Amino acid sequence: MTFLRLATAVVGVLFLASCQAPSLPGMGRGGSTYGDRAGPQGFRTVVIDAGHGGKDSGARARGLTEKTYALDIAKRVRAELSGYRVIMVRSDDRFIELDDRVRIASRSGDAVLVSIHLNYGRSYRAGPETYWWRVDSYGLARRLHQNMNAVCPHESGNAGFVRRRLRLTRNPTIPCVLVECGYLTNSRDASSLASSAYRERMAEAIARAIKTQSASGDSGMGPLPRPIYAPPSKASDARG
Ligand SMILES: [Zn+2]
Repeated sequence: MTFLRLATAVVGVLFLASCQAPSLPGMGRGGSTYGDRAGPQGFRTVVIDAGHGGKDSGARARGLTEKTYALDIAKRVRAELSGYRVIMVRSDDRFIELDDRVRIASRSGDAVLVSIHLNYGRSYRAGPETYWWRVDSYGLARRLHQNMNAVCPHESGNAGFVRRRLRLTRNPTIPCVLVECGYLTNSRDASSLASSAYRERMAEAIARAIKTQSASGDSGMGPLPRPIYAPPSKASDARG
């Protein structure tokens, strides 16, 4: 560890100590500004965020509209999470600002957030992508990516598993992951996503990842990445 890195870590710890109550690493209790701790285990609350809504349709391609399919998959995930307290950021076709989605997540207690989207890009790009930023979200993100890839193995030219600072991967005070369940612009992904049986399998995959994280924490996820002490994401650098 270089002096600079050590100094950065010490400053980070002092800053954290000054502005929040102490929390047990890995237990997921209480909020965490930076998420610089192990992933949660034993949580019973899940915040499901169906991307876009209302005046914001999200991506539109091949006759499919992102906001509609995101909500459909979100509702299927909710149905798969019996025994959990599920908070739906939206359960109908309404517009909600990203910062309001962050607030809903942050006041949900000992919970995790999964934001569900469909992707848009060049027609050859295909397959799921998973976006995360915080250390406490890494295990859940990997589980989500693995489970979605098992449903959709035909990846092509996509970003895959990405550490990116977005409003919904950095700003909530709970572990948070954004998933893109496939490309509406790809003929194969689009025809899969048009099928309710496929969306059900994708929802089962997302729910399975959440349940495994709650049961096992970060067990089997290997070494955790280093925390990055970056400021909250703003509209100017956000996506999603
Ligand atoms: Zn989206």
